[in-house]
Amino acid sequence: MSLTTNATQLARLAGGLRQTGVTRLNVSLDTLDRSRFEAITGRDALPDVLAGLAAARAAGFAPIKINMMALAEVNEREIDAMVDYCIAMGFVLRLIEPMPMGSAGRAVRAADLGAIRARLQARYGLVDALVAGGGPARYLRAPDGRFTVGFITPLSQHFCATCNRVRLSAEGMLYLCLGQEDAVDLKAVVRAGASAAELQACIAAAVRRKPERHEFNASPHKLVRMMAKTGG
Ligand code: SF4
Repeated sequence: MSLTTNATQLARLAGGLRQTGVTRLNVSLDTLDRSRFEAITGRDALPDVLAGLAAARAAGFAPIKINMMALAEVNEREIDAMVDYCIAMGFVLRLIEPMPMGSAGRAVRAADLGAIRARLQARYGLVDALVAGGGPARYLRAPDGRFTVGFITPLSQHFCATCNRVRLSAEGMLYLCLGQEDAVDLKAVVRAGASAAELQACIAAAVRRKPERHEFNASPHKLVRMMAKTGG
């Protein structure tokens, strides 16, 4: 079981979460600079996040993946510092292209992950790698195993053909694609008294009509719900 979190509460909760059977963590962390962290997230919480990550490491979570949005003119110059941090802590780094969802997503520009990948590959002699629960990321690893980095490129190299994800919101909506509005109201199905088998059939039918792909490039002005509404 894997948990995606901003890690602000992990210093307190990591030990208990690990005991419940959660083994893997995905943590959003775009910068190691305290003032930039506050500018990006709206909270002066970088010390809490770093303490949380140290606690998670001590509690034995593995792998711990750091999700860093690679943003041109915002944090792209910090990627080397984040690489050093991940090597020191034994974390997997994932560099992510932002998707143009909501006003926040449209206001930023992706860094050139192709160039960054080539630079890191040359510096560390990275080779292709597979990582448990890898999802859409394409991974590279240093030959001595001390560093693994993944690249998630929904725009420049979309991976919709191999996508195996649907997402259940806190309101009970099953969203079938991050880039499309298609959804099934599972809460309504449950509230109508569906049996477990009927609910299972409803989910299976929903997955069968999962959209083929997003249209972020083909229809850049098409409105899709904000990422925060989907929940991740
Ligand atoms: S199909 Fe949708 S959810 Fe899957 S990778 Fe493409 S945009 Fe993302």
